[in-house]
Amino acid sequence: MANQQYSGGCHCGNLRFVANIELSKTITCNCSICKKRGLILAFTPIADFSQTAGEGKAREYLFNKHVIRHQFCPNCGVEAFAFGQMPDGAKMAAVNVRCIDDIDLDTVHPTPFDGASR
Ligand SMILES: [Zn+2]
Repeated sequence: MANQQYSGGCHCGNLRFVANIELSKTITCNCSICKKRGLILAFTPIADFSQTAGEGKAREYLFNKHVIRHQFCPNCGVEAFAFGQMPDGAKMAAVNVRCIDDIDLDTVHPTPFDGASR
């Protein structure tokens, strides 16, 4: 499956994004925050991601080693995306696949990732 452009955002619409995403490469993670938030993540190079609404309005949540900068809406509380780095230092966006417009989650088959042990 090739990369495709998707739009999405938080629940109330304050934060919006467009991103090129390969939906065949999504993960769920068992780390403490993904577990609680139920995130399904798709990682994409930062160049393939742009925030189209609410720039600077997201609240940021950091924990553990502060590697991932979780972005959530201060109004509706939904985390639509996060920012981070690959092991090689390349800047990435992590899109919450659940926040893609009209996404049919039954067609998404995420790979479990053992973030809890990292
Ligand atoms: Zn919102």
